[in-house]
Amino acid sequence: MPAYYEHPEWNELDTAVKETVALGDQIYLRFEDTIFYAQGGGQKSDRGSISAEGTAYPLIKCIKDEHGDPLALIDSEHPEELLGKKVHLTLDRPFRETQMKLHTSLHLLHMLIEKHLGHDIENPITSDIEEDFAFNKYKNAVVEGVDFQMIAQEMNELTAQDIPVVTWSDEKDPHFRYWKCMDTTIPCGGIHVKNLKEIGPVSLVFHSKKGNMTVQVRLG
Ligand SMILES: [Zn+2]
Repeated sequence: MPAYYEHPEWNELDTAVKETVALGDQIYLRFEDTIFYAQGGGQKSDRGSISAEGTAYPLIKCIKDEHGDPLALIDSEHPEELLGKKVHLTLDRPFRETQMKLHTSLHLLHMLIEKHLGHDIENPITSDIEEDFAFNKYKNAVVEGVDFQMIAQEMNELTAQDIPVVTWSDEKDPHFRYWKCMDTTIPCGGIHVKNLKEIGPVSLVFHSKKGNMTVQVRLG
């Protein structure tokens, strides 16, 4: 289990390059352990840097291999030379914090829409996180009658409170993970804040276009 799940609060990690993996014309590194979250589920790859023997290499991106295990692409002409070497990983913490807050906010948004409607709804057509906001796009028919002003108010009431967020791995398949907040459990392999209070104030921006309703969550 990569350290980013068990210790999302870690900013640095001493590890080693276990393997190099050629994908297309790129060479990726597999670390013994990693704090770099691989992109997936609408969440962006972490940002950060890798240093080895006094040289720092920016992290270009981190992806999942076919088994769901993370691989890192670094800005280096010869990443294969790092095979077996000790490396120090440094995370871009502000970027990660924003991603975790926005991603968790989208779960909260979906939960509140379902609570408001009184029944489960289908997943958004699109769910994505940009640099400083995140959004879910629903079919208009799915969210018909939802008062998003009220949802925004309820979200802010929840993100001001000490409410734990718990995640864990499936016993049989450790790559399959769950997220739980209050009485809602959903499957999700993303990374999240550990308490809704970490999110703080949010605002919602929503607009309907071509039969779809886009709801943006912004922090602050
Ligand atoms: Zn999630």
